[in-house]
Parts: sequence; structure tokens; C-alpha cells
Amino acid sequence: MGVIDTVRDERLKRMLQQIDTEAGYTASYTGRQKFDERVMAAMAAVPREKFVPDDLKPFAYNNEPLPIGYGQTISQPYIVALMTDMLDLTPEKSVLEIGTGSGYQAAVLSLLAKKVYSIEKIPELAESASKRLQQLAYDNIETRCCNGYRGWQEKAPFDAIIVTAAATHIPSVLVEQLKPAGRMLIPVGLPYMPQELMLVTKDEQGASQSRSILDVAFVPLVVEEGENEGASQEQD
Ligand code: SAH
Repeated sequence: MGVIDTVRDERLKRMLQQIDTEAGYTASYTGRQKFDERVMAAMAAVPREKFVPDDLKPFAYNNEPLPIGYGQTISQPYIVALMTDMLDLTPEKSVLEIGTGSGYQAAVLSLLAKKVYSIEKIPELAESASKRLQQLAYDNIETRCCNGYRGWQEKAPFDAIIVTAAATHIPSVLVEQLKPAGRMLIPVGLPYMPQELMLVTKDEQGASQSRSILDVAFVPLVVEEGENEGASQEQD
């Protein structure tokens, strides 16, 4: 019996079934016909309705992104499951997330890794996510409010990095913060255009490779205060 069969709540069950169906449809791109049962169990365990604004709670288990204020969104559940699955987390691993948003993705990660570090640049979102995660007793998540474009040097290196906002390129400083054999998922493309979800892998010798997984649509990753990456002159 799979995780989905054990779920009682009908709306949650439907969300998990939709994730499972979409995983099947996209298998030729992702290489994964089904997501790991531990990932599905984490998706079943985290109450998404606690991470969305009150007026959107009726839609919390729809397989779609929802606005969380400040022009930002909580990602589509299928995308959360896909990105989580592709990180190949195990209970001893550490993971860095850039773009805490509501804290939902961080909560899912926290059930699969030893330690989650998550950075959010909008103070109001950072504060409400951190409070929410504390209230829900996700104790292995450390949050920080700052620009995460340069990662979290003091806590690096990480086994996995997940960027939940779209960058125009893969920031080399983030690749540097990956451990050998580490994995990073990052949407790459122009703001408000379809982007490519990229998987960056590092081998045991520290050489990195990237490949495109599939098209996604994320809010932009901000490079420096007041500008987005498209406008930046910065070179990596
Ligand atoms: N993972 C979130 C959704 C992320 S939406 C969730 O589960 O709810 C993308 C988030 O990235 C937004 O909250 C946005 O403010 C944040 N963000 C964008 N650029 C950033 C940066 N440079 N550093 C930190 N956070 C950033």
C-alpha cells in the first residue's frame, strides 16, 4: 500500500494523486516515473492550508501556485514534490533553500533532511514564515532574512541547494557552496518568462555539471536590493 492510500482527507488525497499523475506525465523529462515514497509522505504530512493566506485556504490543496502577498507565490505542490525528489535527500543531509516565502517548501524538506537553512529577503515574509515554522514545530529549520543570492557562507557547504526563485544564470557562488556529490535545483531564465528548471550535480572530485529538467514559471530571484537579476551588471 502506498502513501496515497493511507491518506484520509479527500482534498489532500486528490492533491497527492495529481502529483503522482503529473510525475508520470513528465517522466520522460525528469527521468522519474514516481516520486520517492518518503517525498510523498512528506507532502502528505505538511498541512499546506497553514501556509496560505486565510482567504485562500479553500484552495490550499489544489495543485496550483497561490499568492502569499508581496507579489510572491507558494509553489505548485507538484513542483515542490519534484524539486524535493530530485534533491535525493536522506536523513543525515543538510540543505539550503533560497526563497523561504511561506515556509512550505522548507517544511517539506525538514522532514527528509537533518538540517534546513532557508533565506528570505522580504522581512514580512521571513518573519511570518519563521513564526509559522516554529508554531508547527519544524525544529530543524534555521531561517535568515537577507539577500540569499550569495548563499549562506557560514553554514556551507551543503549536500543540497534549492532555489525557489528564477535566476538568469546559475550563480557560481552557490555551486561553490555545494559539497562534492551535492545536488542543486534552480530555475533559470528571464523574469516572468518560462524558465528551465536546472539540476546541477557535483561529482566526488568537485566538478559540476548541469542539465535542464523541464519548463517552470517562478518569481524572479533578486540579485541586489532594489533590482532584479535581469537589470544587474554583475558578472559571476
Ligand atoms: N519556497 C516558497 C516559495 C518561494 S516564492 C514557499 O514554499 O512558499 C520565492 C521567494 O523568493 C519570495 O518569497 C521572494 O521574496 C524570495 N526571494 C527572491 N529573491 C531572493 C533573494 N535574492 N534572496 C532571498 N529570497 C529571495
